[in-house]
Amino acid sequence: MSHESKVFMLKQIEMLDALFKHATEGIVVSQTDGSIVMVNPIAEKIFGYDKNELMGQKIEILIPNRFTHNHIHHRDNYGKNPHPRAMGLGIDLYAKRKDSSEFPVEISLSNFNTSQGSFIMSFIIDITQRKHHEGEIQKANEQIKSLNIELENRVSERTEELANVITKLAESKQEVIRALQKEKELNELKSRFVTTASHEFRTPLATILSSVSLISRYDNPEDIEKRHKHIDRIKSSVNNLTEILNDFLSLSKFEEGITRNNPEPLEIDKFAGSIIEDLKSMTKAHQNIIYKHQQGDNLVSVDRQLLKNALTNLLSNAIKYSSKNIELYTSQINGQLFISVKDYGIGIPEDDQPHMFERFFRAKNAGNIQGTGLGLNIVKKFVELMEGKISFKSKFEEGTVFDIAIPVKKV
Ligand code: ATP
Ligand code: MG
Repeated sequence: MSHESKVFMLKQIEMLDALFKHATEGIVVSQTDGSIVMVNPIAEKIFGYDKNELMGQKIEILIPNRFTHNHIHHRDNYGKNPHPRAMGLGIDLYAKRKDSSEFPVEISLSNFNTSQGSFIMSFIIDITQRKHHEGEIQKANEQIKSLNIELENRVSERTEELANVITKLAESKQEVIRALQKEKELNELKSRFVTTASHEFRTPLATILSSVSLISRYDNPEDIEKRHKHIDRIKSSVNNLTEILNDFLSLSKFEEGITRNNPEPLEIDKFAGSIIEDLKSMTKAHQNIIYKHQQGDNLVSVDRQLLKNALTNLLSNAIKYSSKNIELYTSQINGQLFISVKDYGIGIPEDDQPHMFERFFRAKNAGNIQGTGLGLNIVKKFVELMEGKISFKSKFEEGTVFDIAIPVKKV
């Protein structure tokens, strides 16, 4: 070997020695049987040994006892197929100091061959500090996570509270609007009442006045028939006035929300019979109400007052707007009470038909037949309060039929 080559080799050995001594990782070199042959200063420091204490010892001296058995096995395997690799990928590795205390490590393995045989080199990093930091980070992460959850919970709680408040606000706004609307309708009704009453009251009042003054003149016994005629006129005028007042009363009660649906058992044929009886004084000469319960159980459960009002209104319309017989049919089918009121009277002009249930609406051909245009509006409201439906068919100058269907409980 030339002098230059020798110098060059020496330099290289020096450099390798420096690398070995000053490396920041612990380096332990062992033979394939596990005997330690070299330890760098950092490894001495990490494990707390003096290098002389380690020379010739098995590498397992640096491993916690509970792992040594497996380690020997792994070491044998590695010896059979040595190649550079990290050790214990994916699992936490621990090493053991001279004082038997344990500490976490990261190890990578490498092998090399020399004229002296095969060697395994372990690079060891003490990761106690890193583990500690990782632990801290994990703790902080967990804290952040739980804070986040808490925050999310609080946000959703608040959102829910807010949504509740908004709903309540919207509800009370709706209530105020409804109340205002009701108030407005009631006021309208009252002012319309004043106008209508002053108009509608005029005819019956005039009749009463003239009949009363005539009666006072008929004081002879033979005038008894005339007197009775005028007494009847007064009676029917008073009835008329009462009816108008009752309509207004029903409507304002309804608008105030006082009217309720209280179904009670009743026999529909008797019920209809008594209404017909009440209306007899209103019917014209040769005008009768023909009644038939057509089908189904006679016993129904409905609100007596609401149904009476609706039926009376429909029948008195039929009486007023026709001079022929009137037909009334009832039946009970599949939990529904069906009522039909049919007349052969003046009918309703087609143009007017869409407005029939509007308050104060009167058809063109109603002429000077007395009425306020409130009846059908009340009927519809009452039928709907009983959860029922009302409809009609009419032909001008031929007649009209009103149909009601109300759900009823069988009793
Ligand atoms: P009231 O408030 O005294 O009942 P009204 O009979 O005029 O007055 P509604 O019963 O509401 O009022 O009827 C409204 C209008 O519908 C009537 O004015 C009339 O023009 C028309 N009408 C109602 N029933 C009949 C009917 N059976 N035949 C023809 N027209 C009818
Ligand atoms: Mg009417």
